[in-house]
Amino acid sequence: MRTIEQLLRPNIRSLKPYSCARDEFKGEARVYLDANENPRNQPYNRYPDPLQVQLKEKIAQLKGVRPLQIMLGVGSDEPIDLVFRIFCEPKEDNVVAIEPTYGMYSVCAEINDVEYRRVRLNEDFSLDAEKLLNATDEHTKVVFLCSPNNPTGNLLDKGEIEKILRSFDGIIVIDEAYIDFADTPSWLSQLDQYPNLIILHTFSKAWAMASVRCGMAFASEQIITYFNKVKYPYNISLLTQQYVSERIDHREEKELWQKQILNERTRLQKELAKLPCVIKTYHSDANFILTRTTDANGIYKSLVQEGIIVRLRDTVTLCDGCLRITVGTRKENDILLEALSRM
Ligand SMILES: *Cc1c(COP(=O)(O)O)cnc(C)c1O
Repeated sequence: MRTIEQLLRPNIRSLKPYSCARDEFKGEARVYLDANENPRNQPYNRYPDPLQVQLKEKIAQLKGVRPLQIMLGVGSDEPIDLVFRIFCEPKEDNVVAIEPTYGMYSVCAEINDVEYRRVRLNEDFSLDAEKLLNATDEHTKVVFLCSPNNPTGNLLDKGEIEKILRSFDGIIVIDEAYIDFADTPSWLSQLDQYPNLIILHTFSKAWAMASVRCGMAFASEQIITYFNKVKYPYNISLLTQQYVSERIDHREEKELWQKQILNERTRLQKELAKLPCVIKTYHSDANFILTRTTDANGIYKSLVQEGIIVRLRDTVTLCDGCLRITVGTRKENDILLEALSRM
């Protein structure tokens, strides 16, 4: 069994992190003359809390974890990139991911010059844990799982994920960006059992704050200390911290939106299936529906002509003929359905 220490890149193991003014002095003071800030324009003149203590307390309550198990990033894209920078030695280590899946894992692998191994899902988009484990070797530092998966929309089987958690001794990332739309609980409740598990959530989807850029990584306190050492000190602005905190205080609104999207997903799925241009709609545990059509390219272009934009996923592994359709409002979905009924 490799320890977290052993999994780290050597330069990160020995890293002496940047010490900012707010690290040196904590608490209330009469005057702050330590950070070369401008005394005007309160409160935006001050550097924000680099560890977002207040917001993390709120998120910890919401998610049932401890504050020290949380890292906040500029979207979940930031912790995805940090995983490579912390654990993967360029040109030497590799990562293994399911295919098809979210595109950012392979882009971050390329940017960091780390080998990216793709393991195809089964035809029905289910996960074969043994096949994935067979693609790992002693240089595999990270396995990426996305559940519910993008662009396929399905949850990965709990038993198969457990097999990987039990037998892979590197870092396992479970990206749960769409977990609020699934009817199964998050893997968060298992965090204390697996010191090598990282779970990603985001405020971009169910919370309707994609433009705010705030994502969450949950992991053992040890992994979080390395995230904190490597991230930019002031990655989350005061505006973001305040706004996210306020949205959590009004979470009944998010819960209402979530229910509306789930109702529309059911209706959209049913209506799509009736259309002549639709061959198959795949079951969705997310806020989008992968739809196999008679002519994805042609339909995509015709929809664009009418000002309706969906995601063309035709060239993605296992997805030929497929469009990925986000569940919108009832009115938006009706506009799409009416246009598709003429194709
Ligand atoms: C949308 C999405 C995210 C969220 O990314 P942010 O950077 O938090 O906006 C993460 N993972 C997957 C699989 C996604 O589809």
